[in-house]
Amino acid sequence: MCYFEQTRWSCGYWKWGNFRQQCNKEYRTGETCGLKLVYDTSYMHGQCKICDQITKKDRRMRKMSEDIQRWQREGNRRATIEKTQQDMTEIQIQINDLCHSHQEKQRSIC
Ligand SMILES: [Zn+2]
Repeated sequence: MCYFEQTRWSCGYWKWGNFRQQCNKEYRTGETCGLKLVYDTSYMHGQCKICDQITKKDRRMRKMSEDIQRWQREGNRRATIEKTQQDMTEIQIQINDLCHSHQEKQRSIC
């Protein structure tokens, strides 16, 4: 059990920081025993990078669906609409992946 710094964001996401202190099970200098414990937690204001990415992609999705609605009213834009819908499907998959890794991190115990 070796001690590490930890950073925690207000959205619940966290990550390990610098190595701080060795435990008495580990005698090799600079090595860690593999089991991490929290030495100190620094709390960050705001959301983590994953949430930032999700927010950005969400905003893009909203913009794209507005575009599609406008193009549908204007007519004659079928190819563009189809292309944009494909892009939206891809972005939705990316958002799902991001959400998934965020949830996994929140669920894992440190
Ligand atoms: Zn987050």
